[in-house]
Amino acid sequence: MAHLTEDKNFRLPRTVLPRRYVPTVTLNLDERTFSGTQTLEVEVASPTQEIILHGIALKLGKVVFRAGGAQHAPVAMEPMAQSETLVLRFGVPLPKGPALLEVEWTGKFTEGLRGLYQAGKVAATQFEAADARRLFPCFDEPAFKARWALTVRIPTTPGLTALGNGAVVSDVTESNLRTVTFQETDVLSSYLIALVVGPLVGTPEQQVNGVPVRTWALPEKAHLTRFGQDAALAALPRLQEYFGLPYAYGKVDQVGIPDFEAGAMENAGLITYREVALLLDPATAPLSVQKRVAEVVTHELAHQWFGNWVTMVWWDDLWLNEAFATWMAYKIVDAWRPDWRVWLDFDTGKAAALHLDALSSTHPIRGEVRNAGEAGESFDLITYEKGGAVLRMIEGFLGADAFREGIRQYMRTHARGNAVADDLWRALGAASSQPVVELANAWIGQSGFPLVSVKVEGRQVTVSQRRFYSEPGVNSAERWPVPMVLRFEDGAGVREHRLLLRDERATVTLEGSGEVKWVFANAGNTGFYRVAYDGPALQKLATNLKALAPAERTSLLADRWALVRSGQASAADFLDLASRYGDEEDDAVLDELVGRLGYVESRLVDGEDQERFRRWVEKLLGPGLAKLGWEAKADEDDRVKLRRSALVRAVGSLARGGPALAEARARVAKLLAGDKAALEPNLLDSAVYMVARSGDRALFDTLLEKMKTEPDPATQRRYLTALASFEDPALTKRGQELFFSDAVKMQDVTIYLGGLLGNRTGRDAWWGEMQKRWKDVVARTGGAPMLLRRVVEAMGALRERKQLDEVKALLQAHPVNEAQQAMAQTLERLSQDVSLRERAGPEVVTWLKRQP
Ligand SMILES: [Zn+2]
Repeated sequence: MAHLTEDKNFRLPRTVLPRRYVPTVTLNLDERTFSGTQTLEVEVASPTQEIILHGIALKLGKVVFRAGGAQHAPVAMEPMAQSETLVLRFGVPLPKGPALLEVEWTGKFTEGLRGLYQAGKVAATQFEAADARRLFPCFDEPAFKARWALTVRIPTTPGLTALGNGAVVSDVTESNLRTVTFQETDVLSSYLIALVVGPLVGTPEQQVNGVPVRTWALPEKAHLTRFGQDAALAALPRLQEYFGLPYAYGKVDQVGIPDFEAGAMENAGLITYREVALLLDPATAPLSVQKRVAEVVTHELAHQWFGNWVTMVWWDDLWLNEAFATWMAYKIVDAWRPDWRVWLDFDTGKAAALHLDALSSTHPIRGEVRNAGEAGESFDLITYEKGGAVLRMIEGFLGADAFREGIRQYMRTHARGNAVADDLWRALGAASSQPVVELANAWIGQSGFPLVSVKVEGRQVTVSQRRFYSEPGVNSAERWPVPMVLRFEDGAGVREHRLLLRDERATVTLEGSGEVKWVFANAGNTGFYRVAYDGPALQKLATNLKALAPAERTSLLADRWALVRSGQASAADFLDLASRYGDEEDDAVLDELVGRLGYVESRLVDGEDQERFRRWVEKLLGPGLAKLGWEAKADEDDRVKLRRSALVRAVGSLARGGPALAEARARVAKLLAGDKAALEPNLLDSAVYMVARSGDRALFDTLLEKMKTEPDPATQRRYLTALASFEDPALTKRGQELFFSDAVKMQDVTIYLGGLLGNRTGRDAWWGEMQKRWKDVVARTGGAPMLLRRVVEAMGALRERKQLDEVKALLQAHPVNEAQQAMAQTLERLSQDVSLRERAGPEVVTWLKRQP
């Protein structure tokens, strides 16, 4: 009979439980190897002859089990490849009760971005979801929480910093080895353990309610740490306040890691970041970069409670961690900087989730997760953004105070332990006396979301729901309890009407009297659904756009576009509505508009029609830019700067307007000559991009040089993206060759790949190259699951039916097992995009010809 551990879906038995790990790990940074010894305090819950713990590519040395004065060595030690476990078999039953397991082992750094790996000059760990087992033999599942007292031995190289979850409690140098011991942690799941060693420098320590906070970077980037540090100082007290609980892990260190798979990782007390999500130059950082840093810092700090203090039992509730941290980050940053209007950015993420969730190949927020590999696939838009939106909807339904009380109750009840989603719903239900379990489970257990159709007759509003699919003609019978807020205007002003739509259809009568001027059926765009208005209701909204909030104007446009995709509206309908947004002044609404028009320009029309479409966009939005000019006025409001940024993107990047390009060219030349004030920071990305597109060899060389030495990560990324966008054929080719070189860091291969597939002169040749060299393309990700997924998703940028067939053939011949969902989703989406091009392209052309 095969042993259970030969199954990939094997989960650890609860016969032996870890209580306290005391490991010492010696790093050989030159050879990228390590050796370890650890004493592991365990509790044998029932007598057993084997101990199973996780380990991958670790070579075990001496192993001894000690209990009650006796000691036993295993009679066999077997590594099991499928379950990534080490099975220790003993000749006698191990007695119930406390015991010690002493283990020695050796191993190597991994080549990818997980386990212990080398990121440029820094050795760092990334363990979530299940890679602690690449450094330590351990019980590597979230329910197995234990204390960790880690010691690391490193070379005596001057300037080397070692950071762990706890503060350094001793640091001793003896005979060419430095031994650093970290403060023992409170109980933690293994995925939250971290170690970083490198030539890092930190900000001076600053205290928040007695908790020291520091932000770390390589010395050449030390001047970029201030903002991330400030964001942590702002978030920490607000989070303590919200949870009604002190911070548990003694200190906060935040570190920028030079090569990093995700955005950041919430290791307890030692948060690691991709540099661009932590470090920035306040003089040149666009507001979007600042907001992103604040949001990521707050998200990771929110996890210190939600995730670290109370942890999911198993990866099927990973969404709860991530949805909560996503939602919480926006709530806290909004309280810190209300002028940033970050909920509008949240809406952008939500829009992407709605787009994904309209596919048949989507998945429920809470799905079955059988193993660590599947857990890795769960870090997606549904888990983060849809999950966050559903929590926001529930908070809106229960009220902010009851919701917070429920959260506090949940944190108290499950302190230092593990919990499942229903524990949270019960706590929220108790705090609010509302049917939270019913509401929540409908939204998290069922994939997709409703399209709510709205018909207005006098004061009567009829709403009906069915599941929304972006594939035309697809239907199914699911229903949701939809908490809706209708906003409307009549003679008495603007008011709201709340309802919980449970059935397929409901009719409500708006209170008041007189003519109803308009009804908007998703007030503030806080609901996770789309709306289809009947003709007259839509007409009333289109002629009263100014009465709607920015989030509502955005969602009106986005929902209309979704109906075009799903064959329920024509491209002409959409463009008629878009035409009404010409004098739009809100930057967030303009972003949405420019994004949609960009899709039409790049995917639906070609040649002369594309040129005609660009001139129409220039005519629609050019006057707005002309009015603002390129130069920011002294103490100009951020809103104006962002509006200008959206307009430059429309008129310059999208419409390729000649005057805009000339303006950008002159300013970028000054910028590259060292004049940092040549461009308002929010214009940098578009300006450099459009200039690079038509740039020459000298510009290519300059950007390549600057990209390699630039300390500011956002600037570096800007130059990198620009290198993929040159349209001169010789330079396009050089840009493509860079992909396979060290000039593109592993963490950046997917963003760069996206750039190459978006380059219209190089796209087809690059796609040919990708098919030929697919193995090399995949190898560039180092096997990192998030990067692999993005490689698959990047192919969604292709446009033609022939290319769709080629993508299908490629993925069939070389399936990416780490990205099963992404493969299905990308093929489905690309197939819809190709059909949309065939169907809506001619509609756009006809519509354009009708324009004056
Ligand atoms: Zn997170």
